[in-house]
Amino acid sequence: MLEASTILKERDFKVEEPYGRQLEELIADCNQYLPTFDEAMIRHAFKLSYWAHRNDRRASGEWYIAHPIAVARIVVREIRLDDVSVGAALLHDVVEDTDLSLEIIRAEFGEEMALLIDGLTKIRGIYANRALGQAENVRKLILSMAQDVRVIFVKFGDRLHNMQTLGSLPPAKQLKIATETLMLFAPLAHRFGLQRIKSELENLSLKVLEPEAYSSIVLGLRESKQERDSYINQFIVPLRERLQQYGFEFDIKGRSKNIYSIFHKMQAQNKPLEAIYDVFAIRIILKTRGQKGKEDCWRVYSIITDLYKPLPERFRDFISVPKSNGYQSLHTTVLDADGRRIEVQIRTEEMDEIAERGMAAHWKYKEGVNKADTKMDQLLNWVHDLMENPDSEQATEFVQEFSLDLYTDEIYVFTPRGDLKTLPKNATPVDFAFQIHTDIGFHCIGAKVNGKMVPLSYKLRSGDQVEIITSKKVTANPDWIKFVVTHKARSRIRHRINEERRAAVRYGRQLWEKKAKRAKLSVSEEELVRLAAQFKYSTLAQMFYEIASGLLDVQDLIQYMRTGDAPESVDIDAPTESGITFRETAQYKGAETLLINGERIKGLATVYASCCNPIPGDAVFGYTSKAGSINIHRTGCRNAAHLLVNYPDRIQSCAWSRQKDVRFVVGLRVVGEDRVGIVHDLTTVISRNLKTNIRSMSVRTEDGFFEGTIILHVSDLQHLKRLIGRIRRVESVRGVYRFEE
Ligand code: MN
Repeated sequence: MLEASTILKERDFKVEEPYGRQLEELIADCNQYLPTFDEAMIRHAFKLSYWAHRNDRRASGEWYIAHPIAVARIVVREIRLDDVSVGAALLHDVVEDTDLSLEIIRAEFGEEMALLIDGLTKIRGIYANRALGQAENVRKLILSMAQDVRVIFVKFGDRLHNMQTLGSLPPAKQLKIATETLMLFAPLAHRFGLQRIKSELENLSLKVLEPEAYSSIVLGLRESKQERDSYINQFIVPLRERLQQYGFEFDIKGRSKNIYSIFHKMQAQNKPLEAIYDVFAIRIILKTRGQKGKEDCWRVYSIITDLYKPLPERFRDFISVPKSNGYQSLHTTVLDADGRRIEVQIRTEEMDEIAERGMAAHWKYKEGVNKADTKMDQLLNWVHDLMENPDSEQATEFVQEFSLDLYTDEIYVFTPRGDLKTLPKNATPVDFAFQIHTDIGFHCIGAKVNGKMVPLSYKLRSGDQVEIITSKKVTANPDWIKFVVTHKARSRIRHRINEERRAAVRYGRQLWEKKAKRAKLSVSEEELVRLAAQFKYSTLAQMFYEIASGLLDVQDLIQYMRTGDAPESVDIDAPTESGITFRETAQYKGAETLLINGERIKGLATVYASCCNPIPGDAVFGYTSKAGSINIHRTGCRNAAHLLVNYPDRIQSCAWSRQKDVRFVVGLRVVGEDRVGIVHDLTTVISRNLKTNIRSMSVRTEDGFFEGTIILHVSDLQHLKRLIGRIRRVESVRGVYRFEE
């Protein structure tokens, strides 16, 4: 075992600058902020940490010792606990990162310090490999501080300094740490009443997570600072005079708002920055103490409301009824002569200290837990309850209380590897997929949440672990637009739909031009626009789109141009689901594959009816429209009987000639028992074995069953039958049906 004391004493051991100076600054801080402290112990802890980390550097390249020193200074200045917590801050990383063992800590500093360092080392273990946020991990975190609540206070210092120096880490790591901070540490700091630390953690997280919003708020505040300051000063003058007349001793100041809370308000209320920071806020801090202090707060309140009109609904009395974290203050909002709102907080110095540093301000560790402040007692009791009933729902409730309630607009979910993603409320697996990568978004065909298949429209909840199943053969489904909530997913999907639409419009125009040319028609652009209007299309693009989709027959247009005959009024090819009616370009080559009355007919317009989507191999018949084009229906089509009975003279017998590499759209419905991996297996069977393109796929699960809708491209009926056979053989599949609507 290393004899640390001996090493430090016997070798020529010297703390190099600037760290020697920083040790003296730390001692000075202890003198200022701690009522009593063991200076020799702090110096010893400092030197031991310096020695232990002597070969370590941080990601930024600076010597590692800078980190424990910074943490110790945060603990002294911001939390102001006691000397042991400062020593623990100095030594918090040595057991994990250096060859100094816990035994040495125990031998050098005693049992109390050893327990603290042990707790801090264990906390690191919790974070090391796992994603936070699940109740289980939060519970472990709580348990780790149950032994000694100072563990979590030192951890706040550690996290704050890590956030302050986050810039040296790779971006992905920055995002993870910032999210974790926003989700767990900031609310926890709030729970402990550490307002200043909470605000700084939030702001630093925002800087990483929403860099643009962050800098625009900072800039906006800076630009408007002078104006806001002068307004506040103007407002304060008469108030100050009046309070002085009454003989109060007080501080009065404009209150700067936390950048994160401004951001949060902008989001929640959907307002611009100006509308948020335009709400002015001041704080009056009275120097009187105890009961007299409370009474003075009420007197000041009545003086202010004599001067300015209060908004009664905005009044809050946290003095008679403190918040659960010990916060006490009077809040009111008053109107100035111009009707502008000013938020006013009134409190004593003691209350202000609790407001800024919370529980830690009450913490008198040396007096023992039993004699400590009742608020702290309550917190500790609650922690002990958690420890004794680890299976209780309290841990879960705790997570909900501090993370869900505080950030109701956001949810936090995990990738299968445990990386955290922040999404807006109501986000779906598709939003999640686009958040990870645009490609994953476009190619997602299914999702598993906490190991179970869910529909792509499933609303994710905080703590969900989300796995996206992708297939290169699939592309975005236009229907997704109905349920995605993130801007990214929405804009990408819309963009893709527009692209497809533009391609269809181009194709429709080509089709028109080809056929018009063949019919020896020369039609100017103006005539075309007029033609579109006569066919009740608001735009030319709309008309071409419908031509491409098979909803409008070019022959009808040509007929109209020649004779002025109105198109047929009976529209049997009514549009159906948007995802199904639009056919791929390749399909139109299918005209060549059809034999009508036994002949391969070229140049005759054929339209594959979108009511039944016939494919080669299907039993089909042709129906000649008034314009002369032939609509191809399956004999089993729901419109077939009507046409066959009422228009026998327009029916043509049709058959298929074999032609490869032409693809037709077909829809399949697959049902079966839900199980892990089912979507993956289905897509593998479809895409790998038979080289079939999946156009879209969606899966719904309910009560252990799934129902999948697959739209795919096949070359002919034989191909489709083989495919159905393969899908039937996939484990847990109970039925495969071709669907026609
Ligand atoms: Mn650390």
